[in-house]
Amino acid sequence: MTDPIRRVGVIGAGVMGSGIAAHFANAGVEVVLLDIVPPNLSDEEKKDPKKRSAFAEGALAKTKKAKPALFFHKQNASLVSTGNLEDHLDLLKDVDLVIEAIIENLDIKRSLFEKLEKTVRADTIIASNTSGLKIEDMVEGRGEGFAKNFLVMHFFNPVRYMKLLELVVGPKTDPAVLERVVRCAGEQLGKGVVMGKDTPNFVGNRIGCHSMMLTMHTMEAMRLEPEDVDAITGKPMAHPKSASFRTADMVGLDTFLHVTDNCYAALTDDEERDVFQAPGFLRKMVEEKKLLGNKTKGGFYKKTKEGIFTLDLKTLEYRPKGGDADIKKAMKGIKGSPAERVRKLVATEGKAGEFAWKVLSGSLAYAARRIPEIADDVESVDNAMKWGYNWEL
Ligand code: NAD
Repeated sequence: MTDPIRRVGVIGAGVMGSGIAAHFANAGVEVVLLDIVPPNLSDEEKKDPKKRSAFAEGALAKTKKAKPALFFHKQNASLVSTGNLEDHLDLLKDVDLVIEAIIENLDIKRSLFEKLEKTVRADTIIASNTSGLKIEDMVEGRGEGFAKNFLVMHFFNPVRYMKLLELVVGPKTDPAVLERVVRCAGEQLGKGVVMGKDTPNFVGNRIGCHSMMLTMHTMEAMRLEPEDVDAITGKPMAHPKSASFRTADMVGLDTFLHVTDNCYAALTDDEERDVFQAPGFLRKMVEEKKLLGNKTKGGFYKKTKEGIFTLDLKTLEYRPKGGDADIKKAMKGIKGSPAERVRKLVATEGKAGEFAWKVLSGSLAYAARRIPEIADDVESVDNAMKWGYNWEL
């Protein structure tokens, strides 16, 4: 029987770190939440302990007000203590698990791990919430003991609500460490665990990103508009109501571009590598126009006083929401259980059925061919898509 996790350290109080800290507190676990000392402090401010820990403290205050709520109850926030990485590393001396959720940069993560190696107990588990860096690269330069206690714990945002937790071990990870984390994930955090392999973007984001990119390329090839695609790829396809582009706007288009670029760069032998080549409009939206989705109040869609506008993908200007009336009408008639809806969808005459079949068959066949490359069984991929992307099937 493994010991439960009683105290954790979370490093990085951004979107993910704050959510992870709140969720451990929800489980009654004490949390130490640390971030960097803000880089632009004046000499006077540098002496002020409150100012030095302002990133972590500010993040905790924001997390208490998050909507939808990240804490089960605001009182749970009292289990989280905050600090900074220069003055408070000592607080990590007594934690069972440290989760790193700092910016996705290998060199910065490595230098943090070097500090952690000197600080924590010999039996403290160290986990990275990286979206796709390789374990081998992250533990380079660290000792055997560090590699034995190291693994990836890849949470999904928002942490409280997304059931998926992908776990990835390296060749040196101790099986007892994995056992303890699996138990913590299921029994303490209520997560659904999917065991992934140390491959780019792991399971959910590899398949989710392939599906999203295939959707975009097929939309371009068939000259469809974002609202046509969203009419097809929501409920009729047994995916969430937010379908493809409202979901992408919520997640952040910079995040999508980052994941797909990462896949394209790393997957040199993948038979569908070209699917991960981002379409020109997506790159322009992110890199030139800074249209990142909801966080910049404009992505594929934009709320205006006159209603919701859609981005014209050729001109990158917004226009009133429109779309193909026939597709909309056909999709309204698709009802029933998830399996019935998908059956009716792919049997629909015309562009909608053709589009749905191309995307679904392409995505499912690609997923099936990824066994055993990214996971040991098909069920793991199914669970990742249900728990991490809210696909019904
Ligand atoms: P974020 O930008 O919200 O937070 C990053 C944090 O890193 C900030 O609090 C920042 O102050 C801190 N930071 C910046 N420079 C630092 C340095 N030099 N040393 C230490 N800390 C530093 O990012 P995020 O979305 O929370 O992502 C954090 C990690 O989680 C990344 O590895 C990311 O790939 C991964 N991840 C993100 C998501 C997601 O949906 N956003 C999901 C799963 C995993």
